[in-house]
Amino acid sequence: MNGLEEQIDALGIRPGTALFVHSSLKAVGHGVRAEALIEGLRAAVGAEGTLLFPTFTDRQEGYFDPAQTPSTMGVVAEVFRQMPNTLRSRHPRHPVAAQGPAAQALLKGHEETVGPCGADTPFERHARSGGQVLLIGVDLDTLTLLHTAEALLDLPYLNQIEGRYLGTDGLIRTSTMRQAPGGHRGGVRGFEKLLKNRGLIRYGRIGRARTMLLDAGPALDAVVEILTADPAAALCRGECCPDCVDFKGKIRAQQLASLGAEIAVVLPQMPDDPEMFAEMLARFGCPARFTTIDALPIVRLAEGETPPAPPEDGQDWILQPAPADLVCIETVPEGYAGLAYAPLEAARAGLQPFYGVLYKGRCRDLITDIFAADGIAGLGGFSASSLGYLDDLLPDSNVALGEGQAQLREIVSALRMRSFAGRYHLVVPDGNPYAETLRLLREFWNLLPPSTHN
Ligand SMILES: [Zn+2]
Repeated sequence: MNGLEEQIDALGIRPGTALFVHSSLKAVGHGVRAEALIEGLRAAVGAEGTLLFPTFTDRQEGYFDPAQTPSTMGVVAEVFRQMPNTLRSRHPRHPVAAQGPAAQALLKGHEETVGPCGADTPFERHARSGGQVLLIGVDLDTLTLLHTAEALLDLPYLNQIEGRYLGTDGLIRTSTMRQAPGGHRGGVRGFEKLLKNRGLIRYGRIGRARTMLLDAGPALDAVVEILTADPAAALCRGECCPDCVDFKGKIRAQQLASLGAEIAVVLPQMPDDPEMFAEMLARFGCPARFTTIDALPIVRLAEGETPPAPPEDGQDWILQPAPADLVCIETVPEGYAGLAYAPLEAARAGLQPFYGVLYKGRCRDLITDIFAADGIAGLGGFSASSLGYLDDLLPDSNVALGEGQAQLREIVSALRMRSFAGRYHLVVPDGNPYAETLRLLREFWNLLPPSTHN
């Protein structure tokens, strides 16, 4: 065996497997030709095995012709594509080239799938049939299987694109693809550690290049699991990448939609540029509904106070009783359209916002408006009396919704279960309205369950 064969032999490729290869010949270094690398890999999988390469086409003038249109996926894939016994799928954007006994079955009908990388594509079929993936000198962000996972979960940030291709009948066809990947994925760098910790990556070397070998099925399952827990896991964490900010906005919009309730923002005062403020909300996936507390048709009562008749101005007035009274209410007083509830105020009055009010009280089904606000939330009242001093020490501090009102998560989840069709008013504290609103929205989204399996 020569050096290259020995290195390939040590990678852990199973004879007879279908091996999907993502490669950079440049990373392998001088002295290794694409042909020799392909031959070495062919020998490793053996006569019973199948080799696959992505032969995607970046841009396209005219239409895709599997026999003619070059690949933009590096020189090894391009050499492989042009070999006489190579088959290539007809997908206009994400065609796959393959050699070996399983080639036909894996590639068939790719141009008719819903998404380029999702269900029933060569990528998914390869993973489900026990195949292996080899990355040669490239990082996990080239692993198409990530997009397979995104497509299987139908993540809202995937695109719709069009492509034209030459059909088997010689006619040029247009296909509209949903679930198309595209744009940045800054979070993928962290996936290597996650997969490595699960023992799913086997490292090796070819020439100067580092290689990673994965079992495609378990790797796909792991990525689906990661993206189910956090649909934004593949995206940049910060707010500096325009692609990822847009994508996260789409995820959040879907989460809010899955909540079924309306979301509105309550500001201390109207922003100086309402149009720009509305744009910002939309960009971050929040419907552009915002107002000030004084503008809302709400009558607030002190404890023990009898509700007055609401103003007769044609608006749907909402009644907000003191939390202790709310627990005992059995019907909405005449003239009102519903009841408002502020869990933070209940906590400050010494009640447990979920167990003490929503769970025990009959008011549960009468509440139409929830006011979710930041605050220390009466730690002394319901959580631990030994922490009561915090109320005095930090009367105006803002803490995360989920921390200050641990029970708010219960409330959101309980209301979600019974399809709460009311409104969540997110009460923005004083300060820069833009920054404070975004912070509050982010905390609210953190309370929501992931939206991928609805
Ligand atoms: Zn990004």
